Amino acid sequence: MTDSPNETSAAISEREAGIEKFDAIVIGSGVTGLYSLYRMRQLGFSVRAFDDASGVGGTWYWNRYPGCRFDSESYSYGYSFSDELLQEWDWKEHYSSQPETERYLNYVADKFDLRRDIQFNSRVMSATFIEAESCWEIVLQDGSKARGQYLITSVGSFSAGYVPDFEGIDSFKGITSHTRGWPAEGIDLAGKRVGVIGTGASGVQLITEIAKEVAHLTVFQRTANYCAPLRNGLIDDETQKQIKASYPEIFRICKETPGSFMHEFDKRSAMDVSPEERLEQYERLWAEPGFKKWLSNFHDVMVPGEANEDYAEFVRNKIRERVHDPVIAEMLVPKDHMFGSKRLPCESGYYEVYNQDNVLLVDVREAPIERITPKGVKTRDAEYELDVIVYATGFDAITGGLINLNITGQNGQTLKDKFAAGPRTYMGITSAGFPNLFTVNAASVGNFVRASEPLIDWVGETMGYLRDNDFKRIAPTIKAEDAWVKHVNEDGANILRTQANSWFVGANIPGKARALLTAPDTAPAMRAKRAEVTANGYEGFIVE
Ligand code: NAP
Repeated sequence: MTDSPNETSAAISEREAGIEKFDAIVIGSGVTGLYSLYRMRQLGFSVRAFDDASGVGGTWYWNRYPGCRFDSESYSYGYSFSDELLQEWDWKEHYSSQPETERYLNYVADKFDLRRDIQFNSRVMSATFIEAESCWEIVLQDGSKARGQYLITSVGSFSAGYVPDFEGIDSFKGITSHTRGWPAEGIDLAGKRVGVIGTGASGVQLITEIAKEVAHLTVFQRTANYCAPLRNGLIDDETQKQIKASYPEIFRICKETPGSFMHEFDKRSAMDVSPEERLEQYERLWAEPGFKKWLSNFHDVMVPGEANEDYAEFVRNKIRERVHDPVIAEMLVPKDHMFGSKRLPCESGYYEVYNQDNVLLVDVREAPIERITPKGVKTRDAEYELDVIVYATGFDAITGGLINLNITGQNGQTLKDKFAAGPRTYMGITSAGFPNLFTVNAASVGNFVRASEPLIDWVGETMGYLRDNDFKRIAPTIKAEDAWVKHVNEDGANILRTQANSWFVGANIPGKARALLTAPDTAPAMRAKRAEVTANGYEGFIVE
């Protein structure tokens, strides 16, 4: 190949150095990454996805711990972009297990021939904006590079697992695993003494499942959670037909609800009806599967205030009813945070686990973990001897996965420095000084698939606009970004999600600045905001 007279010297050296160039580089091949790939291809862009995993699935690839499953309805979680796919795929359970979800995502990858544009086992070590070429250069672990005009970080909200920095952590002689990164071949827990640290959604699912087989289980709980029965079940043939016939309606509801789930709030206030009527509704919804218990309930159950506390007390009593020993029951009853201020785990027999003779609940707020020893876990009060320690200790959510990519924008500014006091974005998805970077993982709200399809559609539309108008780059103005950050902080201050110490506000990671990591807005409001920005000629952006 000879040099083209129009080719810049940087482009020539890049070609000679064997650096492949794409219109878009996608990082991750989970739910959002796969759709990014599909959509960009459909729009005629050249695209490659890079993933450090050996297969597709993202969250559903990495979280293979026993008990891992959806807690939103399977049929509300699948992609909506292909009718054929919707009609072909049979969800087996109302709340799909991890293996089935991973199978689904593999099926999608095969059906749309996505694998040919995914480079697996390829960890992105850094991403740097190349000013002269208006593009991003990524460097992989093996030192190879690729360039893309656009960089789409489909790395998910929970890709950076967090293990507390316990003293002596490497001295343990038994087996350890975080819930994320659970070995594909599994861990043989039968007959073993297992300790689980953490009782968030992952811990709750795992504990319930492994309590069936371990010799002894010790649960180290720092904060009790509000958990509600999932009430999962198999989907029979008749229901399968009904679901397939109802997809337009399912997606219509999801489109209109705040978190894109298929449940609509009761517009009445809990406090406007009689106590009897209120309780009747609480009980009726409690008997229903999934999130209906709160997302179809009186709307103010999910707003800080009297109704929220009323419902919290209802849930506390439900926990008390299920645990035989009243002392253990009180340990499991949350009293230090509002219902819904932390993500609410759904469970299938979690509380009954504590009625088993071989299960011990240890309160590590009262007696904190002091160190990990060769034999197990040492708290202030005792040493617990274990064969296996499971860290169900969560994630450096949303920004952790981004910061791990070592992203450097214009003038050498790193995203890590820029986000030191909390995310600084415009609409969660773009950041001043980081042109053509779409942080889609930081812009999702609620049900991830429902949120990510319109998000990626907006990215594609924006890229199309630049292509059609011969523009090279887009980035928000500092003014638009400042206004957005102010909006997130001010409007987020009074919502449930900012009222507790959780990953929602980065409070689960020591030293991480406390700031709402997502938009405080509903999914429809976010879509409307993006549409308005586009309709106003990319208001708040500099397009060059
Ligand atoms: P998480 O909700 O952040 O829970 C982490 C747990 O580890 C908490 O109980 C926490 O206690 C505990 N912990 C952390 N550091 C500790 C320490 N130094 N000592 C003792 N305990 C410690 O993480 P997660 O359970 O992995 O869930 C994260 C998110 O993933 C969920 O909120 C949800 O959005 C998603 N998820 C969804 C599903 C699903 O069903 N679809 C399943 C799993 C996860 P504190 O509460 O005191 O901090």
